[in-house]
This record gives sequence, structure tokens and C-alpha cells, in this order.
Amino acid sequence: MKSGLPCVLTINGGSSSIRFAIYEAGKTPRPLLDGKIDRIGLGETNLVVTKPAVQLKVPRRYSADHRSVVGFLLDWLEAQPVFASVEAAGHRVVHGMKHSEPARVTPKLLAELHRITPYDPEHLPREISLIEALKKRHPKLQQVACFDTAFHRSMPPVAKLLPIPRRYTAKGVERYGFHGLSYSYLMEELKRLDPAAAQGRVILAHLGNGASLAAVRHAKSIDTSMGFTPTSGLVMSTRTGDLDPGLVYYLARTEHMTAAQFQRMTNHESGLLGISGTSSDVRDLCASEGADVRAAQAVELFCYQVKKWIGSFAAALGGLETLIFAAGIGENAPLIRQRICDGLGFLGVQLDRKRNARNAPLISTNGGRVKVRVIRTDEQLMIARSVARLLKIGPTQKVKP
Ligand code: ADP
Repeated sequence: MKSGLPCVLTINGGSSSIRFAIYEAGKTPRPLLDGKIDRIGLGETNLVVTKPAVQLKVPRRYSADHRSVVGFLLDWLEAQPVFASVEAAGHRVVHGMKHSEPARVTPKLLAELHRITPYDPEHLPREISLIEALKKRHPKLQQVACFDTAFHRSMPPVAKLLPIPRRYTAKGVERYGFHGLSYSYLMEELKRLDPAAAQGRVILAHLGNGASLAAVRHAKSIDTSMGFTPTSGLVMSTRTGDLDPGLVYYLARTEHMTAAQFQRMTNHESGLLGISGTSSDVRDLCASEGADVRAAQAVELFCYQVKKWIGSFAAALGGLETLIFAAGIGENAPLIRQRICDGLGFLGVQLDRKRNARNAPLISTNGGRVKVRVIRTDEQLMIARSVARLLKIGPTQKVKP
């Protein structure tokens, strides 16, 4: 499909997948194309487009590494008629240090991203290579970096501090928080649904493979569960969440574990996968928990920790009026939401069983003091909106040169 309106390409590059979409930049951006390449580097790499429906196997000669997959993706995108209408591209960039807003990609910004790569070696190199590949082919195309950390720059100093010697703080070692694109989207949705509630005391629970919570007051983040890296906070599919720092020295002494091995273990072998020993996927664990005590413990720990974060954020906020569940688990798993909320009646959280069972937009009882909502998060749409706003792309607005 071709568009009469200017369009925005959005790119969200993960460790083994790249999600992409093309939005028509109308009054409310509308997706004309939406897809992903998955299993990069794992064999059987696929390009799956849901809008319009296309499924392709990425040929072997392109699928071995990220760089050649990106080349394949750009070839494919350029061959789509709608690509001719693309006036700008927006990228999800997981780490943006002090940036509190999306930023145009300039040589200065690219140099800065290269410089801060040590702060996020898991994500930044791939994200930078996507920006550079697009720049090489389309040097005139405007590009925008949308940072996952930006939403949390409003946190007060006390929520940013890490209790280690000040000499590290001076180098930028502090709590940043992540999932900011999702949180920005959820807050925009809440503002649309209930503007007064968006100014109140809100807890956002983004529960996917990566999972975190944020405490929001007056529509600004005041705290979040992830910190210096996305490994911290809540237990996740394969990440530990918060750990006793004493474990580092213990494992180094007794297991001769190196820093790189510790990094791999805490990011890729732990969490629900580590505890269950079988799966990182909550659907699998819920299916097997009746017969498998380790699977049951993994699910129990996840629900218990989310409950504790909700309790501590309610304390930080001085109360709670709105609780929002989002992402794969938050949007689709009534049983998990029920277990998290059981026992939170003292805070005014009361789920309506029927509403919860059908993943209704509002799942609290009519009499419950706290409105509990399920909102389908949309990071790609948030990127498209951010690009359109920053570059003033829209029906009556032209891209600035
Ligand atoms: P990512 O962080 O990779 O984007 P998602 O937001 O897609 O992750 O969430 C993936 C998680 O959501 C997996 O643990 C998956 O099991 C869980 N999930 C998805 N659908 C359901 C469902 N119907 N019931 C329970 N869990 C679900």
C-alpha cells in the first residue's frame, strides 16, 4: 500500500529480533506495515509481516549475523511501495544516559552513543549499527533516537542514587530505569481514558520477558524497579532482578566465576528459567506448575515479587489510585494478575474475577478504591508519535531540513 501522507519508519532492534513498522503520520499515526525478523543468529531466521500478511525465510547467506540481516531487511523495506512515503525513521534506543526527550540523530549524537556503549553493551552496539546502516543508504533521511531511559529522568535524586562511593556517581553510575517507551505510551492512554487519574498516584507494571514497574505521580516517574542496568529489580524470564552483591565474591572464590560468566548467568540463565530449570516462558510454567514444584516456585516468586514492588511503590507514592498491567504477561495472564493482587485489599486493590478472566480494560470491582486496568502497550506507536512530534511531520507539517 502507498500513502498520500508522509510516513515514519519505526525500528526496535532486540538481541535476536528486529521489529519494524511504517506509520502514516496522520492526526493519529496509523500502521500501514508491521512486522519483525526473529531468530537472528539462531537458525531458521524469518521475516514475518502481519500487516500486510507476508512470511519469508531469510536466505542462509544473510541470516548468519545481525549486520547482514539488517542489509536484507533494508532491501526488503525499500522494495515496498510505501517506503517511498517514508520521511523519517525512529529507533528504540535502550540507553540514553541523561537524555530526557527523543533526540535527532546527528554526528554528535552518534558519537555520544558510541561513547556510552559501555553502559549498555547488550543493546547499544546493535541499535547503533541499525542507525548507521540506514544512514549509509539514505543519508538525507531524518532519524530520531527514542530512549527507554528518558521517561525516568524525572526521578528525584534519592531514587537515582546507588549507595556506592561518589567517585562512581560522578562517572554516571546511577539508577536509570528502562521500559520508558512503554510507560510513556501507557500514561498517554491513561490520560485519554481518565485525565484526572493520570495526574494522580499510579503504578505501571510492564510484565513481559523483560519486566519492571514504575511509580508515577503528576504523570512523572518518581521511581522504577530497574536501575543501572535492565538486569535489576524484579525477577524476569532469564534475568535475576536484584541480587545480594556478596554473591559476586562468593562465586568468584568458590566457582572461579569471571565477570563475563557472571554477566551471562545473571542475564540469560537465571530468573524463571534458572528457578524452574525448564522454561523462561510463563505460559509453559503455568501449564506445568501442577506437576512440577520448581515451575510452581518460579511462578510463585514472580507474583510475590511483583506484589512487594507494588507495596513499596504505594508507600513511595503515599497511596495508590491506579494500577496498570501491560506487556505479554500483564495483558494476557489473568491467573498471574489475580495472584499478584490477592492480599492487596488493604491498599484498596480488588479484582473483579469475571473482568479479570476476560482481560477487560478495567478489571477492578466497581467498589474498589484503586482502578486496576489492562492496557495493551505499543512501543512502536510511541516511537512513531515521538518522531512525528519532534520533526513536526503530519498532515499540515513538513519535515524541517
Ligand atoms: P518481550 O519482553 O520479549 O517483549 P512479551 O511482552 O512478549 O515479552 O511477553 C512474553 C511473556 O508473556 C512470556 O513469558 C509469555 O509466556 C507471556 N505470555 C504471553 N501470552 C500469555 C498468556 N496468554 N498467558 C500467560 N502468559 C503469557
